[in-house]
Amino acid sequence: MASPTVASTPVPMLDVNRQNAPLQDEIQVAIAEVCASGAFVHGPACQEFEDAVARYCGVQHAVGCASGSDALLLALMALEIGPGDEVVLPSFTFFATASAVTRLGATPVFADILPATFNIDPDDVMRKISPRTKAILPVHLFGQCADMEAIKRIAHEAGELPVIEDAAQAIGAEFAGRRAGSLGTVGCFSFYPTKNLGGVGDGGMLTTNDDRLASRLRILRDHGQHPRYHHSLVGLNSRLDSLQAAVLSVKLKRLDDWAESRRSNAERYRSELGRCGLAKSLTLPEVAPNCSSVWNQYTVRVGDGQRDALQKHLAAKQIGSAVYYPIPLHLQECFSSLGYQRGTLPMTEQACQEVLSLPIYGELTEKEQNQVITALAKFFGIAAAVTSDQCAA
Ligand SMILES: *Cc1c(COP(=O)(O)O)cnc(C)c1O
Repeated sequence: MASPTVASTPVPMLDVNRQNAPLQDEIQVAIAEVCASGAFVHGPACQEFEDAVARYCGVQHAVGCASGSDALLLALMALEIGPGDEVVLPSFTFFATASAVTRLGATPVFADILPATFNIDPDDVMRKISPRTKAILPVHLFGQCADMEAIKRIAHEAGELPVIEDAAQAIGAEFAGRRAGSLGTVGCFSFYPTKNLGGVGDGGMLTTNDDRLASRLRILRDHGQHPRYHHSLVGLNSRLDSLQAAVLSVKLKRLDDWAESRRSNAERYRSELGRCGLAKSLTLPEVAPNCSSVWNQYTVRVGDGQRDALQKHLAAKQIGSAVYYPIPLHLQECFSSLGYQRGTLPMTEQACQEVLSLPIYGELTEKEQNQVITALAKFFGIAAAVTSDQCAA
């Protein structure tokens, strides 16, 4: 007996309003307080949020700035990285990781990734170290920390190279029981609205246990001045708005609950996709044994050149998905002068062909997740029995 066709409602890739709406009253109060205070930039709300992030990450210092991109730039500036210097980083990441290096006149040296985690491959980092290397810049991609133990060992053996964590996608993620941003020399965070901790605009943060580095970062983010009109360094205007800080303080209290919801959605994808026999057609994301992911993205691999067709199929069923990232940085036009050829970072290039990220936010309903799973099953010709009436649809 055929079940009646139920018009399925769209499943967005992300819907920030679902997270913010239940907090509207608290957010409005926080915004009103900042407006009434007249302290709009680096006011008490910023100090409070910096202290909260420092405690959350388990570090001595947290320094707010204007964005995650600026956090990366400021970290490199504070470490005096510039022309002639090399920084080893992944090519499979968001553009800002590499552009920060280039903007300072230094050279990004791209390393390949480990296929299981999408994170930088420590063995390739080792191969890419040269006498000009001034830092290693691992990215904790999709919410899971890179292998920081191996990276720190390499940094140590190469003469105490600083390690800059690009933790823009990984606030709250843990490696061997310690949080992202507390693992390297300095951590860089983004509060762009689509991140796990998203503001109502741009925002960023740096974390460190190094007192000297923290004070350099505070000076650099404010035109390099301290005290006012005394410029010891040439800095940026990269400050954190008090409004963003106030909203983010409200949201930080819920961050662990949201991460828990993302984690249970990820577990449900794994069990249900496995149950439908889809774990063969799709390669599901892995979490390394010493890691705890915060699932900024749930990224599967689709082999046999079928990724784009699958994405189209999902779009036709009004299911959001995204390709992070379609073109590796070492093959971007703006980096062509670096001379990388196709084939030089094979794992990265393969990932760019195969990855597809599925909706994973904590507010995703079970019904919506079933829609995603059913649509995936249909594509692979499996008349999937998911858990409910959804599968028949
Ligand atoms: C988002 C992101 C950034 C940049 O953060 P913005 O706040 O958008 O400038 C840097 N690196 C990675 C890996 C990111 O995902």
